[in-house]
Amino acid sequence: MGDCLFCRIIAGEIPSQKVYEDEKCYAFRDINPQAPVHILIAPKEHMRNITECAEREDDLAGSLMKAAVKIAKAEGLENGFRLVTNNGQDGCQSVDHLHIHLMGGKKLSERMS
Ligand code: AMP
Repeated sequence: MGDCLFCRIIAGEIPSQKVYEDEKCYAFRDINPQAPVHILIAPKEHMRNITECAEREDDLAGSLMKAAVKIAKAEGLENGFRLVTNNGQDGCQSVDHLHIHLMGGKKLSERMS
């Protein structure tokens, strides 16, 4: 686990506002929300980013996306939402434990960068 912030959140060592959990992933509210609904979906197993996840034999990336859609439905985002994963330095990834941002609850910016 080491010093990984999200591993410590998933382990319950650091408090979080959990919204969903299954055998593969843990989802919690972003501490600095950029939309009325801003949730992070992270794999329980530590991996750095989506590049590392895509190297796996299994379909963990698909499971994370499916969990995100399930959470969006539970949050009432029937009008739409955005899923984003920042990857590496140019992607402005600040926490090196894979996570998907689920944002919604308002009309989001058309700008993506
Ligand atoms: P990224 O920049 O894509 O790596 O996203 C990291 C996200 O983690 C940011 O949106 C932060 O606001 C969020 N974050 C950082 N620390 C915490 C925390 N303790 N609990 C919840 N979200 C956090």
